[in-house]
Amino acid sequence: MNKEEQLKIIEDMQAVVEQMRLDDIEEDPSLAEEMFECSCCGKTMPLAGSIQYSKYRLCNNCVLLAETGFAIGKFKNAEELIKAMEDTRLKEMCDYIKNQEKLENN
Ligand SMILES: [Zn+2]
Repeated sequence: MNKEEQLKIIEDMQAVVEQMRLDDIEEDPSLAEEMFECSCCGKTMPLAGSIQYSKYRLCNNCVLLAETGFAIGKFKNAEELIKAMEDTRLKEMCDYIKNQEKLENN
């Protein structure tokens, strides 16, 4: 698979994943407000556009990463993506703790 094909897949996936989010909101607008903690990036994200992969629930951003990764053969399953995202998740956690400290100091 060349770069151009990969880019095409990424563009297609962006549209598909964004549409999933919009469909979710259309079906149940409360999903845009309801939050959960993404198993992959560790961020608190709206349920709209999220997908459950076996025991993991991924936010819309991570669904895009996952689906693109599967499509170009970078990951075989959500677990591999989550492993690859470990650093990002740690960073999120650190940022969260830092922000909490800031709030407490103010
Ligand atoms: Zn996520």
